[in-house]
Amino acid sequence: MFRRIFNINIEYYKVKGGESVEDCIFCKIIKGEIPSDKVYEDDMVISFKDISPCAPAHFLIIPKKHISNLNEITEEDSKIIAHIYIVAKEIAKKLGIDKTGYRIVANCGEDGGQTVQHVHFHVLGGRLLQWPPG
Ligand code: AMP
Ligand code: ZN
Repeated sequence: MFRRIFNINIEYYKVKGGESVEDCIFCKIIKGEIPSDKVYEDDMVISFKDISPCAPAHFLIIPKKHISNLNEITEEDSKIIAHIYIVAKEIAKKLGIDKTGYRIVANCGEDGGQTVQHVHFHVLGGRLLQWPPG
């Protein structure tokens, strides 16, 4: 009986994409359970500096809604995703990299190099970035 209830609870916490919201490091940052160097927050998104920066300016913008990866984005998320680009250019301006330029990157899946299973957009700038990426 206990096992049956336990299984149901586990399913409840699983989200599409197989990642548990409870274990998601970015959901923990959103909830303030682990610290971050926050640069922006509103009701839809939060932005914080990447812990392991690849450029003089390197911050992440994430939706407050847990979405595991780009494949899980739906039509109803359109407003959030569009908003992320507006927030990106505003933060870029605040950090003084809007004129020199920057790059927005979202890695998806193993080949894309995604390591955190909560959709996030890297914004990189402050130096000349190489192309193509490795
Ligand atoms: P990706 O490899 O595209 O999934 O990007 C995940 C990014 O999250 C990496 O650049 C990490 O350095 C960054 N990251 C992981 N944990 C944290 C954290 N606690 N605070 C800030 N950035 C993080
Ligand atoms: Zn999450």
